[in-house]
Amino acid sequence: MKVPEAPEVGCRLCGASWGEYRTSIYGKEEVFCCDACARFYGLAIHEAEKVFRWEKVDRLFLYDVHGVEAEGWVRHGTVTKLIHVEGTQDGSRLLSFTVKDLQGGSI
Ligand SMILES: [Zn+2]
Repeated sequence: MKVPEAPEVGCRLCGASWGEYRTSIYGKEEVFCCDACARFYGLAIHEAEKVFRWEKVDRLFLYDVHGVEAEGWVRHGTVTKLIHVEGTQDGSRLLSFTVKDLQGGSI
């Protein structure tokens, strides 16, 4: 299965090309479309660090967002894991973080 790659520009979480909200991720300034995406990105990468025991997440991207649920992937080095996440509208809470079991959830 081929999952959509993240666009070069736009929101780091959802890829939206509108809006410009900047915040620091691992000490580096990143661009998001809004504060909700920025908050949620922070929560989701922190969860991924715990779940996969990675010291750092290189990239997390949600390619298919349906309201407060989304399909996405998270990457560390050459490893990419497919995830399904659920959060709140304002991005302040991560309600679920599920690793999709697609041949081990790796692509
Ligand atoms: Zn966004």
